[in-house]
Amino acid sequence: MARTLITSALPYINGVKHLGNLAGSMLPADVYARFKRAQGDEVLYLCATDEHGTPAELAAAAAGQDVATYCEEQHRIQHDIGRAYGLSWDWFGRSSSPQNHRLTQHFAEVLEDKGLIEERVDRMVYSIDDKRFLPDRYIEGICPHCANPSARGDQCDNCGNLLDPTDLKEPYSVISGSRNLEVRDTRHLYLLQTKMADRIRAWVDDNPHWGALPRSIAYKHLDEGLIDRGITRDLAWGVPVMRGGFPRPGFEDKVFYVWFDAPIEYFGAAQEWADETGDDWARWCLTDQGAADVRYVEFMGKDNVAFHTVSFPATILGSEEPWKQVDVLKAFNWLNWYGGKFSTSKGRGVFMDQALELLPADCWRWYLTVNAPEGSDTAFTWEQFQSAINRDLADVLGNFVNRILKFNETKFGDVVPAGGEPGPLEEKLYGLVSERLKALTEDFDGIEMRKAAQGLRALWVLGNEYLQEAAPWTAFKTDPERAAVIVRTALNLVALYARVSAPVIPYAAEIIAQSVGEPYPPTWPSTNGQAELTRLEPGRPVKAPEVLFRKIEDTQVVEWTERFGGQPG
Ligand SMILES: [Zn+2]
Repeated sequence: MARTLITSALPYINGVKHLGNLAGSMLPADVYARFKRAQGDEVLYLCATDEHGTPAELAAAAAGQDVATYCEEQHRIQHDIGRAYGLSWDWFGRSSSPQNHRLTQHFAEVLEDKGLIEERVDRMVYSIDDKRFLPDRYIEGICPHCANPSARGDQCDNCGNLLDPTDLKEPYSVISGSRNLEVRDTRHLYLLQTKMADRIRAWVDDNPHWGALPRSIAYKHLDEGLIDRGITRDLAWGVPVMRGGFPRPGFEDKVFYVWFDAPIEYFGAAQEWADETGDDWARWCLTDQGAADVRYVEFMGKDNVAFHTVSFPATILGSEEPWKQVDVLKAFNWLNWYGGKFSTSKGRGVFMDQALELLPADCWRWYLTVNAPEGSDTAFTWEQFQSAINRDLADVLGNFVNRILKFNETKFGDVVPAGGEPGPLEEKLYGLVSERLKALTEDFDGIEMRKAAQGLRALWVLGNEYLQEAAPWTAFKTDPERAAVIVRTALNLVALYARVSAPVIPYAAEIIAQSVGEPYPPTWPSTNGQAELTRLEPGRPVKAPEVLFRKIEDTQVVEWTERFGGQPG
């Protein structure tokens, strides 16, 4: 049995994520996991909250909580909201877990033994007014590369360059706005990425199937030259810095930097899952213990690509241990809110919890998949959202399912009708369904989410076209046997739709499957249209479901635009 390991970039702990986060990593990872399970793969789909670092400390302080309690609560909230969207994680872990602490300390130990970590006296920015060292992302200033006036100390969001706080021109504290900053000496551990550059480049060269976006980002960073990166910080919340099983002298008040421990949590989450289930994590994560057969697919937004193609590989390759490396790296562009960015801090756009108050998860899953920011950035608009739900889900899919099941109930009772032989219209349909199933399977396999969703819609459209052409309501008056063939074929289409739609709209797919007495979760169909459309045995009980998708009214669009804004602010 083929085995697929799937991870999506870890959502940060401070609060509920917006739809852009869902669209750019968690949702496509889930769609793909559901598809591979339906195909019969053994799948391990992992995600976790990324819990360390200063933003968690500050958010906890703002909430009047100690940081451990804050993270525990926020983890639960993110877990529950993800489940409410149907995210089918096998495990949703925590980067603050004991397993990840041990792994992070292990990697640091091994890397130091290999001569890839050294202590340096660092000159860090200290805010005199804030009375603390300022972590990278709490210093902003002018980007030395592109002159963006609000580049962060770790990265410029405008040009994508990774930065050091001391690179910034005219820096200021994000906490207080103070420019009363000075640079002070403090000891830190450095990961010597410069020593790793050739090995990382060779590894990127060996992975030509990643796709254009991740490869171009990886080579951009390699071509610009890697720098040695500090992997510890003057903070209290995080993974303690150890050496030989004891706190490292001089590092008692420091922890590992969040970018060092967060990706290690992919393996940490596998260990958490194994500790909980009694399963074996090593056969998924260590190539000498079975993971050589595993295909590992990572999902992430483009802002995370550098960490997954350069920084994290430096840790893994540097350890010279047989950790499973990514095989397919799927990166997404941005989902924007009208012309501008979603913004957690500025409250622009819809957040995951708010979205579910408006409409069921399947509506969001459908819209965010068919408009996935795959080849380029895409913009959310309420008008486009309304159109996708009303046209695709309500008019095309929902209408077909209800129409044929209702017609069957009135003419043939609550069972799949018997009698009649397929004719030329059915032969034509078999051919079209075969073609589209083949394309759909290839697109899902190739993780082409937009194309897969469009292919899914194309399959749904076939149902309405077939009914229009075959006109069972007319045939029933003169030739009931002919009408029985048409209805039976259409009911087989309903069953097929439940199976092929399940990765994207799992809740509706389950209701559709139940309406025609099919098992759920489903298996993935073959690409033989004739076989798939002659499966349901005559006499099988079937029953029309309630209305599957309610249309979005214009008045709702007006109301939501007022509530959440419709224009970039
Ligand atoms: Zn820049």
